[in-house]
Amino acid sequence: MLNRREFLKAGAGLAFAAATLPVRAAQGGGHVVVVGGGVGGATAAKYLKLANPKLRVTVIEANRTYVRGYGSSEVVTGHVSMDDLNVSYDTLKSRYGIQFVFDTVVGFDPARKQLRTAGRQTLAYDKLIVSPGIRLLYDAIPGYSAAVAETRVPSGWIPGAQTALLAKQLKAMRQGGTFVLVAPPTPYRCPPGPYERAALVTEWMRRHNPTGKVIILDPKDSFITDATMQLGWHRLYGYNMPADYLKDLPASVQVKNSGRPSPIEWVRAKDGGEVEKIDARTLAVTTLQGVEKADVLNIIPPMQAGKLALDMGLTDASGWCPVDRRTFESSVHKDVFVIGDASIADAMPKSGFSANTQAKVTARAVADQLAGRTPGEPVWENTCYALAGSEYGLFVADVFRLKDGKIAQVSGQRYLPLDATPAQIRLAATYQQAWLKTFTEDCFA
Ligand SMILES: Cc1cc2nc3c(=O)[nH]c(=O)nc-3n(C[C@H](O)[C@H](O)[C@H](O)COP(=O)(O)OP(=O)(O)OC[C@H]3O[C@@H](n4cnc5c(N)ncnc54)[C@H](O)[C@@H]3O)c2cc1C
Repeated sequence: MLNRREFLKAGAGLAFAAATLPVRAAQGGGHVVVVGGGVGGATAAKYLKLANPKLRVTVIEANRTYVRGYGSSEVVTGHVSMDDLNVSYDTLKSRYGIQFVFDTVVGFDPARKQLRTAGRQTLAYDKLIVSPGIRLLYDAIPGYSAAVAETRVPSGWIPGAQTALLAKQLKAMRQGGTFVLVAPPTPYRCPPGPYERAALVTEWMRRHNPTGKVIILDPKDSFITDATMQLGWHRLYGYNMPADYLKDLPASVQVKNSGRPSPIEWVRAKDGGEVEKIDARTLAVTTLQGVEKADVLNIIPPMQAGKLALDMGLTDASGWCPVDRRTFESSVHKDVFVIGDASIADAMPKSGFSANTQAKVTARAVADQLAGRTPGEPVWENTCYALAGSEYGLFVADVFRLKDGKIAQVSGQRYLPLDATPAQIRLAATYQQAWLKTFTEDCFA
């Protein structure tokens, strides 16, 4: 693995290789290289071709098949299989003529506008779009590490083998055992996701391990969709809602806490939920309130922009990538655009939906720039659907515009109303399932 200096050095020696491999196609609108064929990158490649079919578009992606993160907690509870998460790139190739290089980027020369891959290919670009996702900072929690995550305490926040391991551990958990989920600090990928996972595991336990319980340990005091999610937990699992949430409920919504222990518990920062360290051998988690002993431990650690962004020098001190909010052009390198989870996008959450809408706006801006046009005024949107149970849906939906150079949320009513009817709640779960399908088609087909 190269460090950042070596990475840039590997890119700097590309002049000769590039001269022998004439990959820049100036005719027909230019060559756009997209690094990372996940949600942001795949959508950008497709929408570049839709904006101008004459553009030459090349995606450099590390894996031949994309493993989707959205909907991946449903593997943990056995609703879908690991295979169901696989998404093919075939349609992007055949329908739109997008070229794919399945390789890893290991060198970058921003002055010469060239990239180098581990397979020793050199690619020159007119414009470069980077959507590398996230990297998980396992070592930020004492006792945790990448090696521990792969073998004993999975995270599964980048879907793959750890997701499958977590599913296996849940099935094998002793009756009456405790599933501890450690939630991450902000900013992080998929804001309602940890709480949805906890809910789905609780629902699973009701059927397969009725005396088991789920404890969420949290370094935060709130999360997006927290009121609607907790109302769902209350109705489905007898969760006792905290007093500060009860007082904000409309008069028409009746909530009576039983006071009895519930199979799902949320320990916030103000109640001592922040984790100080873990013991990977005994699965003991030390928090400010004491020690919690887990039977299955799922940690979603702090995160930052994907390693590629760091290596390419695209990150700032926060670990995320600063961009010109209008086009998502990097504040560091000209003609390089960073979209998706890795970018700093102010009020926009780090979600697949955001990555997709950022990709569309940026693809349009890049096509405009290459055609000598000034990009128009951007508008973005996001909807995060989440489940409190497999038939209990909720959402947060937003529209975003530029305000004083930053991305601001401009929509009014954002959440499923707290007094939504049972039919509306069921419908939101149906929408969530339909969204998984149509969204994948919008990005990858
Ligand atoms: C459990 C879970 C549930 C979620 N639920 C939702 C949901 O309901 N709704 C929603 O909108 N979002 C959801 N998300 C979030 C969503 O999956 C991400 O926000 C989205 O995938 C971000 O897209 P991206 O393009 O930034 O990164 P990714 O989709 O992760 O793509 C990054 C790509 O870059 C490639 N790459 C990285 N480095 C290199 C390199 N050096 N060379 C070549 N390729 C490289 C990777 O292989 C990867 O394919 C969920 C996530 C999780 C984990």
